[in-house]
Amino acid sequence: PQFTVPDTALAGLREDLAGAVLVPGDPGYDAARAVHNGMIDRRPAVIAQCATPADVSNAILFGRETELPIAVRGGGHSVAGTSVVDGGLVVDLRGMHAVVADPEHMTVRVEGGATIGHLDRATQPFRLATTGGRVSTTGVGGFTLGGGSGWLERKFGLACDNLLSADLITAEGRHVVASAEENPELFWALHGGGGNFGVVTSLTLRLHELPVMSFAMMLFPPRSGPDVVAAYRALAETMPDEASGGVLYCPAPPEPFVPAHLVGELVTMALVTFAGPVAGVRELAGPLSALRPVVELVQEIPYADLQCMIDDPPGLRNYWSAEYLDGLPDEAVDVYCARGERIPAGTACQHVLFPLGGAVARGPAAYPLPWRTAAWAVHPFATWEDPDLDGAAVQWVHDVRTDMRPWSTDAVYLNFIGTEGERRVVAGFGADMYPRLAAVKAAYDPDNVFRLNHNIAPAEA
Ligand code: FAD
Repeated sequence: PQFTVPDTALAGLREDLAGAVLVPGDPGYDAARAVHNGMIDRRPAVIAQCATPADVSNAILFGRETELPIAVRGGGHSVAGTSVVDGGLVVDLRGMHAVVADPEHMTVRVEGGATIGHLDRATQPFRLATTGGRVSTTGVGGFTLGGGSGWLERKFGLACDNLLSADLITAEGRHVVASAEENPELFWALHGGGGNFGVVTSLTLRLHELPVMSFAMMLFPPRSGPDVVAAYRALAETMPDEASGGVLYCPAPPEPFVPAHLVGELVTMALVTFAGPVAGVRELAGPLSALRPVVELVQEIPYADLQCMIDDPPGLRNYWSAEYLDGLPDEAVDVYCARGERIPAGTACQHVLFPLGGAVARGPAAYPLPWRTAAWAVHPFATWEDPDLDGAAVQWVHDVRTDMRPWSTDAVYLNFIGTEGERRVVAGFGADMYPRLAAVKAAYDPDNVFRLNHNIAPAEA
């Protein structure tokens, strides 16, 4: 669709905003419209590079007056590219990335456009942390509002379990605070409901002491995969909350610790992370180590550095999905491993098998995150460069889902999937939770201004 933006409205926006306004042809426009997923190539009519909450309010009102579809951009990591829109308005929060830790009160205030890297760098000097994602480049906003899963979740809960309050600009351009005391229904909905209710300009999160972090990373020949997964399953059944990690099949990455002859060869990787000293992870990973990995790396590492260890460069082609499993019987292990052996050549596809449990499973059942009680997640995550491989990579992701269906629950973590239809969205929130979310949506965004997301239809009045 074509949308026209009257010059006077645009001039008004430029005047109102402390940040810059970009339109097609402006220097920096192409860089500003690019998102993490290189498959997404959209051309917004206007990019409002917001610098303050007032800019966010002005941008939303401009978008409504000009009837442009509105996309909200934090870290730009949604695989479906919901943070950029053809012919519409992007409310770009990247300029708002200040993070201020308050060690005395064990909290951190994070602006709506900050990344996990900004967050971790601000808390690391104090040996404090909260659950972030597994890479540093994801936006704290989209990540936390969708739930927020990472290495520390079994110890400290999901990111949203640590949310203490949020400042939000509504579809009417109003500022509201959401916390347990103020607007508690909205606060509830921000635990999984994503960007449906407004633009979050800052979040306050609980911090935890994390004096030291360690990990064990091992690579095995793929023929050892079934034994590795079985050993990992045994580990996951008894491991303490400090431990997390996962197993995956992938082409061995070009890292200094990988011998040259292995780079690009299919391997089974096992990762154990441990919120504590290296002796702890060494002991936990002992049964994996006994399976004779071809590469073994065990070390202590500052948490903020661990967080950058598997960062991908931006611009790769991405396609992902997820299934959440109640259990992992031997047959599921075999099926999982067989699909790992069939990763399409030339791609960097992987299907990460994560154990959940711990503080994730014990967290509040009242939030719209029905997947939190699953035992395992399988997250097929395909990246590749050559557009000719699009078909093979996407098909492989679908095949992983089809393979694992016999053991999956309906529930799915929406941050791990793209656009997969309304049925999946409802399953992601939980059919029993959906009407309550729809009521909050109707209260804060009755016209569905914020609809480029895993969308909740406003309840009918
Ligand atoms: P964006 O594309 O900018 O935003 C996605 C949507 O979130 C927007 O459409 C909007 O609706 C909403 N949004 C973002 N910011 C705001 C805001 N401030 N206010 C209101 N709405 C907002 N997820 C995990 O849980 N754990 C992981 O370990 C993990 N690893 C990842 C690794 C990679 C390489 C990638 C690409 C993604 C990963 N994710 C992970 C998924 C990630 O959490 C989601 O893609 C999330 O939506 C990204 O948020 P963003 O702000 O970066 O993305």
